Amino acid sequence: MAKAGEYRIINFHGIGEPRRELEPGEVDYWLSRDRFVSILDRIASHPERERISITFDDGNSSDLLIAAPELQRRGLRAEFFVLTGRIGEAGSLSADDIRALIDLEMCIGSHGVAHRDWTQVSANELQYELTASKAQLEGICGRSVNSASMPFGWYNASVLKLVRDTGYRAAYSSAGGSANASEFLKPRNSMRSGTADNTLDDVLSGQIPIWKMLRNRARARFRI
Ligand SMILES: [Zn+2]
Repeated sequence: MAKAGEYRIINFHGIGEPRRELEPGEVDYWLSRDRFVSILDRIASHPERERISITFDDGNSSDLLIAAPELQRRGLRAEFFVLTGRIGEAGSLSADDIRALIDLEMCIGSHGVAHRDWTQVSANELQYELTASKAQLEGICGRSVNSASMPFGWYNASVLKLVRDTGYRAAYSSAGGSANASEFLKPRNSMRSGTADNTLDDVLSGQIPIWKMLRNRARARFRI
């Protein structure tokens, strides 16, 4: 039986054709529009739909152009984690796009400024990533921004402490498995172009194979 407050978070990146140059390895995280729509259909029709939430990383322009209308069509909402250093650049959301997402009742969180590995930057640099992105997004949205997703899913104990000390109420990783509403660190399940339907179904229903859970935990601990 599912524990109280337990739910699954599905994380997306770009959808469709990228409109900017991708980072090394990033192409695996881009989904075709058809694949994205088929995953959303599976979420929308899932018996535990209320225990599934959706996020997007990086602030790609496909968040508003493709994802938001498809979410709306299915009565779904999502949280979009934006890289503030890319706001207004080709292929990324503009400030007006971010406000349009808010108007569609979507949520906005921070993914930092420059897409850096937060375990590899100095405390001062991380402080800047966290405070500057939060302030800029709050200025654009006209409301507080309380959650952050960690670039590449990398984190350690000092990253989590600084995220918390900067005033965020949740830190999102990509470690896989279930999240809990009462916990600060929220593991997510990132969709890749090669994610098969049976893997997706396991993730959606919280039936993640134990070997996968252990592998993901070992990976997370490796960088601590
Ligand atoms: Zn990212």
